[in-house]
Amino acid sequence: MTQENKKIIFHIDMDAFFASIEQRDSPEFKGKPVIVGALPGNRGVVSAASYEARKYGIHSAMPISQAYSRCPHGIYLRPRMRVYAKVSKEVMAILNSFSPQIEQISIDEAFMNMSGTQKLWGPPKKAAKIFTKQIHNTLQLTASIGIAPNKFLAKLASDMNKPNGITEVPFNPEEIVLWLAPLSVSKIWGVGKKTQQALATLGIRSISELQKIPLKELESRFGKQGTSLYNLCRGIDLRDIEGHEKAKSISREHTFNNDSYDAEEWYGTLLSLSGDVAKRSRKASRKGKTVVLTYRTPDFKRYTRHLTLVQPTNLSKHIYESACILLKKEIPRLKSLRLIGVGITNFDTAIQTDLFENGKKTKAWNASEEAMDIISNRYGKDAILRAREVTERKKKK
Ligand SMILES: [Mg+2]
Repeated sequence: MTQENKKIIFHIDMDAFFASIEQRDSPEFKGKPVIVGALPGNRGVVSAASYEARKYGIHSAMPISQAYSRCPHGIYLRPRMRVYAKVSKEVMAILNSFSPQIEQISIDEAFMNMSGTQKLWGPPKKAAKIFTKQIHNTLQLTASIGIAPNKFLAKLASDMNKPNGITEVPFNPEEIVLWLAPLSVSKIWGVGKKTQQALATLGIRSISELQKIPLKELESRFGKQGTSLYNLCRGIDLRDIEGHEKAKSISREHTFNNDSYDAEEWYGTLLSLSGDVAKRSRKASRKGKTVVLTYRTPDFKRYTRHLTLVQPTNLSKHIYESACILLKKEIPRLKSLRLIGVGITNFDTAIQTDLFENGKKTKAWNASEEAMDIISNRYGKDAILRAREVTERKKKK
């Protein structure tokens, strides 16, 4: 493969994003331990810690009481999510000026496809330098970048020389194997505590140990994940950048004014969000086969759960019921929620036929939901409320 057409992926990760924005906006916080999250004396966790705070062993998701006992003189701040979201948009706009193919994966992280941009920006490392400089000049923030032939390696690399670090992974397959060898298996994409423990019982802790296990053995022990372990420990990752030329999903989210401890409120919110998603999908004449439930816990961690249906849908009843199935599974481990959302994705590209709508029930639902669209378009959203929403509203009064 020539230099010109080899695949080059950047992973950009803003450094201590929330805390750095606070230090930028309040210069008196510069050089000091800044902890964004719950306030000491309250329940809750750290959502971001400045590098000065990390020296005290403070990290995100740590209970705030523990952070406070490690660093009582720290500066403790509540998150300003609106500000962070706005800065995030500014970061993404800069990214877009470098490459048309961006995949944002969280508020402060994205993949960029930099293949074939050599003529424009020079070799990858030089491009990354120009790029971080522009972020710094425009936003007074720093970013770390991983440069690699694929997403897995790029993400791994961006974390290696934080903050303000540019790390380039070798592009030659044999060198990649050697580069990965000394790392812990926990660095492999998708390897959580469970898999880590399962590997440890086999005496596998480092990637080099994993590289010695034959494909057959990994597959017999881990099934499909075994195949992916075999590939990833050699740095093979075939996932493409998912650009957003076309909307890949239709979704709606709701952030609660205060963290919500009330499961009834979660279900009620899902019901009205499902209605909105269904309505928008019908307007766009699209049907999705996968329903996605999203939620954020008070520590700002975002979770998504998927349910794939037998047939694509854009009916609020189907979307709501699928979201309920997903939420029900999560309930035992949930105390409170900051945000909940629902969406559909995995759109049917074929022209919609009546094939699966032959069932009378579905047809009836279709007709009644379309009628609701018409009425709510004419008289406003509150003109029609489904039974459950009515009880929700009564309860609030
Ligand atoms: Mg970050």
